[in-house]
Amino acid sequence: MAERQRTQSGDDPFAGLNIDSHESLENIKDRSFCPKCHASRKYFCYTCIIPMPEVASSLPTVSLPVHIDIIKHPREIDGKSTAVHAAIIAPNDVTIYTYPDIPQFEDKAKVLLVYPTDNAVTLKDLVKMESSSTNGAAHSESHIADTGLPPQPKRTKYAGIEGQSTEGVRQFERVVFIDSTWNQSNQIFRDERLQDLQCVILKTQKTHFWRTQPDKPDTYLATIEAIYYFTLEYHQEILATNYQGQYDNLLYFFSFMYKLVQKSTAETEGLSKEEKQVRHRRRTETTTLEAQLRRQKSRQKCLTDLSVLIVN
Ligand SMILES: [Zn+2]
Repeated sequence: MAERQRTQSGDDPFAGLNIDSHESLENIKDRSFCPKCHASRKYFCYTCIIPMPEVASSLPTVSLPVHIDIIKHPREIDGKSTAVHAAIIAPNDVTIYTYPDIPQFEDKAKVLLVYPTDNAVTLKDLVKMESSSTNGAAHSESHIADTGLPPQPKRTKYAGIEGQSTEGVRQFERVVFIDSTWNQSNQIFRDERLQDLQCVILKTQKTHFWRTQPDKPDTYLATIEAIYYFTLEYHQEILATNYQGQYDNLLYFFSFMYKLVQKSTAETEGLSKEEKQVRHRRRTETTTLEAQLRRQKSRQKCLTDLSVLIVN
């Protein structure tokens, strides 16, 4: 399969991708208030999952080949998760659920779960498995030899969407991602409503996330990276179509924030010890101030709620 050449330069891992200009994000200097929940936000509101009005009209949007359901752990901090990037860039194709709320699956055979269990397979192997079972038992023996996978139970065959699928391979309707730390995701994965789903794993990719989890290898991806690489593989393996960069904008916010962090790190490295301390102090003060404002708002809300109770 002829694949698009992807440059991986040391300076900019996103060079060569079809990502729109970040100019409108660069022009935003201050936070403003979310039109819906009135919280102070900069580029998008991660609570309401909407872009801020200042950038809304200039943001790229992406249409995905399969619906994506993201189940996030209630203790996952919204502002730190990259899952919301997908919901803002592909608003018609991404839904975020907060566990224990999870999607209703009409037909589990048409759903994939991206999760690294022992019996998870790559999309490439899934195609091999399905193609070989379509072609009869004789082929399934050689498939086992090819992939080293254990024999898989026979599956129902689907006609697929005309002109879009690899012959004999199912069309999937939804794919589920779990958005949380490793320990929390295991709790969600064990939920009985997610049993019987075909688990898949992605090809190994190196993360560019600046907020890595301790003791995790650099192949442990941020949620938006996992969604991007999955969509790309789905396009190439399941739809068997050449990739032209049409999902690259899924990394629109991620690549922008990556560059901001790189720039800030480079600047910090050039500072003296005293300057670093001043910068750290300023950041701590800002964080404390924001926390105080949040507490104040929450107190005000309690008072308002209380006054409603009293009036009633
Ligand atoms: Zn909001």
